[in-house]
Amino acid sequence: MAKNTKKGKITIDRERCKGCYLCIEVCPNDNIEVDTVLNNKGYAPALFKENTNEGEKGCIGCAQCAWVCPEVAIEVYRAK
Ligand code: SF4
Ligand code: SF4
Repeated sequence: MAKNTKKGKITIDRERCKGCYLCIEVCPNDNIEVDTVLNNKGYAPALFKENTNEGEKGCIGCAQCAWVCPEVAIEVYRAK
């Protein structure tokens, strides 16, 4: 199996987020969850899972979450 060294991370602007969760639906590796703390607008925003559990793949920097976000709240960073 080819080793995929491309890893990524995202930041989510929790105050911009409207809680539509399209990003959660689209993420292939389940790296985004719903925050338990509401933002100032009263939405439960999306939250990036910084740490992956055993067996989870982690963020690959595919940017699908950023493309799908209607509020442009997500930025993607890719590690080389
Ligand atoms: S797609 Fe954007 S607005 Fe929707 S839950 Fe994700 S970060 Fe929030
Ligand atoms: S960049 Fe891809 S893998 Fe990373 S959180 Fe967004 S959708 Fe998931």
